[in-house]
Amino acid sequence: MAINSATLAAVAWMRQQIRSLTDAEVGRLTAAWVEAWDELAPEFSAALTDLLSTAEGTRVPASMVARSRRVQDALTHAEAVLVELSRHTDSILVDDLARVILEAAEGHVQVLQSQLPTGDIRAVDFTRTDPQAMAAIVDRSTQQITSRTLPIPAEQAQVMRQSIIRGIFLGEHPDAVARLILRRTEWGFNGGLTRAARIARTEMLDAHREAARRNALANRDILTGWVWQATLDTDTCISCLANHGREYPVEEFGPIDHPNGRCARVDKVKSMSDLLGLDLDEPDDAIPDAQAWFDALPRADQLAIMGSPKRLDLYLNGDVAWQDLTVRKTNPDWRDSMIPTPVPQLT
Ligand SMILES: [Zn+2]
Repeated sequence: MAINSATLAAVAWMRQQIRSLTDAEVGRLTAAWVEAWDELAPEFSAALTDLLSTAEGTRVPASMVARSRRVQDALTHAEAVLVELSRHTDSILVDDLARVILEAAEGHVQVLQSQLPTGDIRAVDFTRTDPQAMAAIVDRSTQQITSRTLPIPAEQAQVMRQSIIRGIFLGEHPDAVARLILRRTEWGFNGGLTRAARIARTEMLDAHREAARRNALANRDILTGWVWQATLDTDTCISCLANHGREYPVEEFGPIDHPNGRCARVDKVKSMSDLLGLDLDEPDDAIPDAQAWFDALPRADQLAIMGSPKRLDLYLNGDVAWQDLTVRKTNPDWRDSMIPTPVPQLT
């Protein structure tokens, strides 16, 4: 059956739902991080002023920073706050998992229904994923979320520690130096937020995709597979565009785009002749051609999408084929993902 505008609308609706959900999650995480730093900042500021005022000469050696009780206390406190924030992150995300999975199941049915001729819906039966499979996805995603937030406190505290120790050359303006170090320490702290936000976006999406995959498996006898659909705008990278339109087997998880990716899985229903033995003319899929879309863009947009002038030149000169612009990257800490092929690999 053809993927049509109603199918694409159902997919867009699902994408919008999950996007607004993760935006809300990221908003709550940001608020928590900002509030926590507001409490920590005076402590760091006082510790730095204290440390710098007792320094002799123009440099505070790392050993002296390490001995400073106030700096150490502030760092210990920051790590404890980060532990709290990580737990908070886990609970925010886990609370939303069941909803994400239910929405994926609902959305998946819409995607299938959109491809059937109206009136004939009852001729084809859908199966809904059973609650046990749903619970299994919640469990798996919960583990994934907690294992990814677990290292944040220790690692970001280490970044904060390094930003303090590294930066203490006093020069002529100790106050300015203290402000600079404080800002760098804040960046280290906020690095935890960046990671938490990325976990929110990737894990919610992946839970959604896994739920869609389970639903597809439950209906595999009426499906031919699924199509990778990218968002055709200039924020999309070349890897996602090069994968757009490719077809995958029903059982395959995906799309395996990179962190913060926005691609979608569009399951495709079998043709009427395969399904019901009816001999009907069926239209083509209404999926736009990503390469034609890209080729028609102004040069500046093409460059933004390619991310590198060299990569763009190689493609425009015909030295690299469209499908070779994406490559699978293995990642033992997360999952494999498709990324833009590094330029050295293209030449
Ligand atoms: Zn991309």
